[in-house]
Amino acid sequence: MKTYSNSCSNSCSDARPESPCPCGSASLYGDCCQPLHRGAPAPSPEALMRSRYSAFAMGNVDYLLQSWHPLTRPASLTLDADVRWRHLAIEAAPQAASDSSSGTVRFRAVSQQGDEWHQLAELSRFIKQDGHWRYHDGDAVWTRLHPGRNDRCPCGSGRKLKQCCLT
Ligand SMILES: [Zn+2]
Ligand SMILES: [Zn+2]
Repeated sequence: MKTYSNSCSNSCSDARPESPCPCGSASLYGDCCQPLHRGAPAPSPEALMRSRYSAFAMGNVDYLLQSWHPLTRPASLTLDADVRWRHLAIEAAPQAASDSSSGTVRFRAVSQQGDEWHQLAELSRFIKQDGHWRYHDGDAVWTRLHPGRNDRCPCGSGRKLKQCCLT
């Protein structure tokens, strides 16, 4: 198995093996996206997509680049340090056949930057290469959200914004 060093800096050390996984699954980070961040192959396109969302949330640029297909991978990637990823919802992740080398995942993700909220709706395409699923490309639509203080928080907590992620 190919392994990668995780050179994540302090900015992404906030997820611990025993804390809830940033991808929003019901699992702990150590049982969910952490093994993938350490080089284990993703069992499905959905698992890879979740691990990439967690990497965005944690600022793990190395993992984002290594999980990107070489044909479409950018030379470098800079993440906005003040963008916080608040919510991920997988809308469709058709089971890829075990011998299939391509798959898709449709998802919605919500980000917050100060008092600005955005929703990303994307259909991502994944290709398996040397036994590893990689992100190839996607059709993305960004929408600005305008939650009011008394609206439900876009992070999906069920609480009002003013009692939750209001900055
Ligand atoms: Zn996860
Ligand atoms: Zn919230």
